Formats: sequence, C-alpha cells, structure tokens
Amino acid sequence: MKIGSIINGQEYKEEHRETLSVFNPYNQEKVAEIALAGVEDVNKAIDQGFETFHSTMKTMPAYQRSNILLTTANLLEDRKESFAETIAKEAGKPLKYSRGEVDRAVQVLRFASENAKHIYSEVIPMDAAVGGENRLGFTKRTPLGVVSAITPFNFPLNLSLHKLAPAIAAGNVVIFKPAEKTPVSAYMLVQLFHEAGLPTGALNLIMGKGEVVGDALVQHDKVQKVTFTGSLPVGKNIRKKAGFKKVTLELGSNSPNILFDDADMKQAVEDLVKGAFAFSGQVCISAQRIYVHHSLYDSFLKEYVKQTEALTVGDPLNENTDFGPMINKEAAERAKTWIDDAVSNGARIATGGELNETMLAPTIMTDVKSDMKIIADEVFAPIVSVIPFEIEEEVVKHSNDSVYGLQAGVFTKDINRALRVADKLEMGGVWINEISTYRQDNHPYGGVKQSGIGREGVKYAIEDMTELKFIGINLNEKRL
Ligand code: NAD
Repeated sequence: MKIGSIINGQEYKEEHRETLSVFNPYNQEKVAEIALAGVEDVNKAIDQGFETFHSTMKTMPAYQRSNILLTTANLLEDRKESFAETIAKEAGKPLKYSRGEVDRAVQVLRFASENAKHIYSEVIPMDAAVGGENRLGFTKRTPLGVVSAITPFNFPLNLSLHKLAPAIAAGNVVIFKPAEKTPVSAYMLVQLFHEAGLPTGALNLIMGKGEVVGDALVQHDKVQKVTFTGSLPVGKNIRKKAGFKKVTLELGSNSPNILFDDADMKQAVEDLVKGAFAFSGQVCISAQRIYVHHSLYDSFLKEYVKQTEALTVGDPLNENTDFGPMINKEAAERAKTWIDDAVSNGARIATGGELNETMLAPTIMTDVKSDMKIIADEVFAPIVSVIPFEIEEEVVKHSNDSVYGLQAGVFTKDINRALRVADKLEMGGVWINEISTYRQDNHPYGGVKQSGIGREGVKYAIEDMTELKFIGINLNEKRL
C-alpha cells in the first residue's frame, strides 16, 4: 500500500518522490509506504486551504459543520474494526486498546458535532463604563482560518481528532501532518471526512518528515494557529518559530501517582498496572512515578509485581494481548539504557528490564533517586518506579519536583486530604481515586510548566480555535 499527501482531494504519490516505509513494530512486516511531501507541497496545501476557508468554511453554517462531524463519527463507528487493526499494525498497540482508541475517537467527533451548535457569545453591559450609555456591545466567536495540526504516533487517530474535530466544528480549515511512524489511520481518517461531505480543501494531509516540512507548517504567513502534540524539544522549537500565531502545545510528562495509607490498594494496584503499561507506557500521562505510603509499600510492591508479571505479552493483533512492542528499536534501546544507568547508580529492578528487539519487558524499578533519568525525564516506555514516602508535604514536594506538570493520581479515602493535595499539585489535571493515565475526551486537558500551553478536550479546544471579536453600536439617535 502506497499512500501520499492529499491536497484539495488530490493524492500526491508520484514515482519521483522519496518514500518512507512503515513497519509493524512487532514483526517488522511492511504496513505501508508513504510518498513524502516537501515544502512546496506544504505551501500548496496552505494556499489551497486559505482559499477554501474564504470561499466555503468561513461561511458554512453551524448545522452543516455539525452534520459533517456526525456523519464522520457514524462512518468511523461502522469501520471500527478496520481502523483498530490499522492502529494495531502501524503502532503495535494491542487490539483491545486500539479498539478503545476508535471508540473514543467516535465520541470526540460526536462531542465536536454537538459543540459546533453551541459556540455562544455574550452581550457586554456597556453602560457599566462611564460614558457607555446608549451603546450596545456584543462578542462573536469567529474561526481563525488555516490551522496547522501536527500529531504524534501514540494515539494516531484520537489525538489527531482532538485537533481536527474542534477546528472543523469552529469553521476552520486544517493542514494535518500526522506522525510519519503511524500515517495510515490518519490517511483513512481524511478520506472519511471527505466521504462525510467535508469540502476537500478544508482538510489537507501532509505526509512528511517533521524536520523537513515542520518549519513551513509553523511559519507560513497564512497559518493562524499551530496545534501540536508531541515531544518537548519539538514543542520548544515550534513555540520559538511560530511568532505571532496562536499555539497549543500538548507535550510530555513524568506523571506521579500517590497512594496514601487509607487508599483502596487492591483497586489501585489493578489500575496502575494498566496505568503504567498500557501501550507499553507510551502514553503522555502514563504512571511513571508511584509514591506509596511506607505502611503499604511492601504489600503494594509484591502485588504490583505479581500482577505485572501476569500480563499477556505478545502480538498486538492477538485478542488476548495486554502488552506489545515499543514503537521502534531505537526507542526501546534508549529506554533500556535509562534502566541500565539507574541500576549502575544503585536502583533495583523488581521485575522486567529485559529487551528483545522492540519488546522491552514491563519494568518496575525501586531504590531510585530523584536525579535519575527514569524519574526526572519522561520515560515514554514501560518503566515505572515505586517510591516509599512518610508524610504528605514530602510527597507533594517530590511530585512537583519536575519540569513537567500534566496529570497526577491521588488515592485516599480522606476527602479533605484529597482536595488539599489536589490544590498543591502543580498539574494541569488531578484525579482523585483514579490513575493519572485516565482521560475523558470532554474535560479540559493540558499541562502546566513544560507539559504545554493551552487546553484540549473538545469544548476547550474549540474556544482556542476561534477568535473573540467585539462589535459595538453607538445607539445615540442622532447617529442613526
Ligand atoms: P515527536 O515530537 O517526535 O513527533 C510529533 C510530531 O512532530 C510528528 O508528526 C513529527 O513528524 C513532528 N515533528 C518532528 N520534528 C518536527 C519539527 N522540527 N517541526 C514540526 N514538527 C516536527 O513525538 P512522538 O515521538 O511522535 O510522540 C511522543 C511524544 O508526544 C511524547 O513526548 C509524549 O509525551 C507526547 N505526547 C503528548 C500528549 C499530550 O496530550 N500532552 C499526548 C501524546 C503524546
């Protein structure tokens, strides 16, 4: 299967183009070949999108945008299995999690379809200002125009939709650059939107390498907003180059989870196995640091190791597989080095640590120190550290000792403590009696510190995809 960029409905995969092969990370079978785009393709996609915005999207009524999003949701639901299998193959994500991703993606489209009809504005009480008598003032939320959306490999469908669906709901056009590691579900998604009736120039797909096409997507004068999900270094670079454009950055994390002495340990263990090892820890809010009250530490660790070792490891396409490969050998080797570094500095492996090609075993570390990479940096791999603590102030301090702040989990039956700790944690979101890894698609989601700028979660992303325009009328009779 050879696929290429799609600009105004036309696909670009001519012979002369450089290509990139996409391999199944589990067995290295070829999944697809992509014909790479260059800067001239990006410029064409943006010019085309700009035209479509002014000719069509800017004035498309809300009910039509809503219908297109709903039709796309229904088509995606009908083709759930084909999308889930594609994600399992291109990303190596176990089928059960790939299906879960498609279910969420359908919901994101439905939320966007509903929200497209509820983009409200307000009337300003103009007479609150001295001299404001006889004036009417109100706001309108207007679409921005051309939005560049750049997405990562780990949720190739759902995280793309967290950008595409709100952008379309608000009446924008999108230049969409998916991760080159997982381009097939993105390609299928663009076709779905077109089948659902979206004007072809309103969603242009760029199949390119980030380092080649990235700057053009970020710096072009006709782009009004850049929305990016991915790693911190790329996010920093985008922020620097975007100039006056609006920017949303959804970046990394090393999420803490805290178990106080009154936590429901049985439930927490079960949830944290998924929280650390779902999709091999390649989730931005994966549980990376688990702080356990010293009174529970030994029993927690014993049970946590036991349940982790019971995971069914293997081919992502098998129905029963819980745990599959990492995205590529390079990523797995990098993670293994971090484990080895920690061990050489005194950390211990409670389970896991073995690497075979892309398969890094689910790994639990203990006796870690706060300056080790597996604690201080984002591991983005199936590695979790279990750390004992004694007092609340201490665990809050350790949890906040990070350049990141995306989501955290707090487990306790004491509601006063839960809310106190939630207030003190420097995070974009805090879950109480739930793992950091849990996310619903309708709550505000995004980071503080170097975890990012802006919020997604459909309603909030729509706000960020619009500009607030003020319109005022002087009602003095002599002016009429
Ligand atoms: P990545 O940063 O390597 O790539 C993300 C996207 O950026 C890809 O499409 C890539 O082609 C593109 N890119 C690369 N260089 C670029 C450049 N110079 N200019 C513009 N675009 C460029 O990230 P990844 O490995 O695909 O994903 C993993 C990262 O994403 C992790 O750090 C993870 O925490 C983060 N992430 C964050 C969230 C969130 O919501 N906060 C969600 C998922 C993943």
